[in-house]
Amino acid sequence: MSWFDSLTASFIPLVPKSIMRRLSTRYIAGEQRADALQRGSQLARAGYRVTYDQLGEAVSNEAEVAEAVAENLRLLADLKEGNLELNISTKPTQMGLNISEDLCYDSMAKVLEEAQSCGAFVRFEMEESFTVDGTLRVFERLHANYGNTVGIVIQSMLFRTEDDAHALVASSEQPLNVRLVKGIYVEPADIAYQEGPLVNASYLRTLRVLLEGGAFVAVASHDDLLVAGLEEMLAENPAWREQTEVQVLLGVREEMRQRVRDSGLPVRVYVPYGDAWHKYVTRRLKKNPKLARYAFFGMFKRGEKFDKA
Ligand SMILES: Cc1cc2nc3c(=O)[nH]c(=O)nc-3n(C[C@H](O)[C@H](O)[C@H](O)COP(=O)(O)OP(=O)(O)OC[C@H]3O[C@@H](n4cnc5c(N)ncnc54)[C@H](O)[C@@H]3O)c2cc1C
Repeated sequence: MSWFDSLTASFIPLVPKSIMRRLSTRYIAGEQRADALQRGSQLARAGYRVTYDQLGEAVSNEAEVAEAVAENLRLLADLKEGNLELNISTKPTQMGLNISEDLCYDSMAKVLEEAQSCGAFVRFEMEESFTVDGTLRVFERLHANYGNTVGIVIQSMLFRTEDDAHALVASSEQPLNVRLVKGIYVEPADIAYQEGPLVNASYLRTLRVLLEGGAFVAVASHDDLLVAGLEEMLAENPAWREQTEVQVLLGVREEMRQRVRDSGLPVRVYVPYGDAWHKYVTRRLKKNPKLARYAFFGMFKRGEKFDKA
């Protein structure tokens, strides 16, 4: 990212919510569960797998955690009724991790009981580095009790991640399902790679550890180099084809997701919804200098058409 793009991205938190709301339509299915179901069924008809995510994070009281659990149960019920793929994602801090690991475990267990009974899958996501140990501890307990109904995420930008992959593969008696990402959070240089090529090298090393260890791996990236790295590994060992899919975010590099789908690799689109879209969209805009520029100039200019990006 150029210095100018970095500068404009740093202004994103100052952009009025009304402008952010308009920009969010690219990345968010809508505020209602019905919006997500509608977008998901369109994607399914176009040959994509889908995971649904009710947005929310850093929840600090038990009532909000209970509401997030209830919404996930309603989501599963609606997916079942709509004959849609039963695949959802959820954040540890939305399930109560900031309050206690036991609350987070219990909240996830309520969702997983239902998921297991209807054959659904629930992805337990990964957030800032200070939550990683707690998330992995809760995941270990969930995985021991709910097996392949639950999967985890690990982030290649963290120095620790290759070791975490080895540990996950070695300790899992149940089939393991991992989403491998670069990591969206800003992390300090003493624990995380800061240069793209090092993050990518860590990604490909970790991908190999997971595939060799027999895990199912979701390669969640829009980076052509990483998808090419996956394709090289699949050419080397075609049996790994059964163990992988590519995952992309709604609204990001649609031409790339079509190309990957057309090449025969399964592609899953992450479809977020809900009224807690502001933090999510802020992170996405910081990753996209072009949209960040529109947002920045939109603060000073009336009538700018933001959706032309
Ligand atoms: C399905 C899915 C789930 C995820 N779950 C998590 C999670 O649980 N925890 C976590 O920390 N991170 C998560 N992430 C985010 C991930 O860590 C990366 O920050 C994000 O995917 C961008 O990295 P990249 O691998 O696409 O590579 P990049 O190098 O960032 O991007 C590759 C290409 O895609 C383009 N691109 C990337 N983002 C955008 C955007 N917003 N708009 C337009 N173009 C864009 C870039 O311009 C570049 O050309 C998830 C990502 C995906 C796809």
